[in-house]
Amino acid sequence: MIGKNELFMTTFVELGLIEPICHAVSAEGYEVATPIQEQSIPTVLEGRDVLGVAQTGTGKTAAFALPILQRLAADRRRPQPKGMRALILAPTRELAQQIGKCFATYGVHLRMKRTVITGGVGMQPQIQSLQAGCDIVVATPGRILDLAMRGHARLDSVETFVLDEADRMLDMGFIHDVKKIAALLPAQRLTLLFSATMPPAVSSLAASLLKDHVRVEVTPQATTVERIEQRVMFVAKDKKRDLLLDILGAGNVTRAIVFARTKHGANRLAEQLVRSGVKAEAIHGNKSQGARQRALADFHSGRVTTLVATDIAARGIDVDGISHVINYDLPNEPESYVHRIGRTARAGADGIALSFCDADEIAYLKAIEKVIRQPVPADESHRFHSEAIAHLRLGPVPKTKGPQAGKTRPQGGHQRRGGGGRPGGARRAA
Ligand code: AMP
Repeated sequence: MIGKNELFMTTFVELGLIEPICHAVSAEGYEVATPIQEQSIPTVLEGRDVLGVAQTGTGKTAAFALPILQRLAADRRRPQPKGMRALILAPTRELAQQIGKCFATYGVHLRMKRTVITGGVGMQPQIQSLQAGCDIVVATPGRILDLAMRGHARLDSVETFVLDEADRMLDMGFIHDVKKIAALLPAQRLTLLFSATMPPAVSSLAASLLKDHVRVEVTPQATTVERIEQRVMFVAKDKKRDLLLDILGAGNVTRAIVFARTKHGANRLAEQLVRSGVKAEAIHGNKSQGARQRALADFHSGRVTTLVATDIAARGIDVDGISHVINYDLPNEPESYVHRIGRTARAGADGIALSFCDADEIAYLKAIEKVIRQPVPADESHRFHSEAIAHLRLGPVPKTKGPQAGKTRPQGGHQRRGGGGRPGGARRAA
């Protein structure tokens, strides 16, 4: 049996979020929660501390912003003068502004008093915006500490404290400021700490700030990637389908996910495969929940052996025994590659990841190799191998970033940087 979360993608309503918030995220084009959101939102709503190991691009901002908004809305009270109910610390001004915008967007129906406090701008307007107290303050550590020291900000009534990008914060030398800020916070509070990596300094900071926390992790483990046999196949665009048919017909493919870049491309490819006698189905964000559920159940039972998927739709797929991941189109976000290939080699199994690369995709390949810090070996043994395309790999990175460069809404109306897939499963452990 496949469990509910493995078969379905979780919606924001199912995570227990109230209507004004669900309404705001759906206006943003978010259809389902990302793995970090699935894990973190209920935990924060329950009132438990979270240690989130997640990179930018996984949807981590909404993972803390949505439940914080809900908690504030559920227990409306006037913030203390110069005080704040939620304090979010970010390492850079840009990130603080971006988080501030997310709170504005997600909280558009909730009437929250918010402000963003960063260095590099005058203090006076910030002092004024804090005067009557705020529900939400997003800040960089130096400036908010400065304001607190001068008596313009009070941190002793903070109910929820978020430390975002803790590893970057420490790299940038903010550890002392963060510790001083933490010392001004009340002991009784909710604390959420997010970090892309967990070096010892972040672990010890987490240990000093968090109480009885839940660890939520969506970073792919390097070992998963190492266990996967990866190959790139240089092939002309118009030969990709024939190459795919050769691979699927070779006899060693028991269960394959084929990644296409667009919903339309996924549909067309699945139809062509079916016409060629392959038991294939497409799965993407335009399909109804019922259709997706049926496709996944058929894939699980073996009635369908090849699932043609787009990145976002593939997030809900958590099926063991996937022998091959085939990148029919290379992803334009290199992190998606890691998430995609993590679909195979689950539960200690080995897996094979094959990536088709046409002349327009060389830049994507190079970006991927940079992220995984290793070259992807080429398979030149297939009958569609193009030496001319293989040769391009040796040259400088092409200027054009490939056919879809610049398109940021590949499906579901909204693209998430870095995929946020569930390689090896999003783990949640106390
Ligand atoms: P973050 O990791 O918070 O920087 O988010 C990365 C991007 O993903 C942002 O552009 C968000 O708007 C987007 N995003 C966040 N959650 C979702 C979701 N559930 N579905 C689609 N896009 C999302």
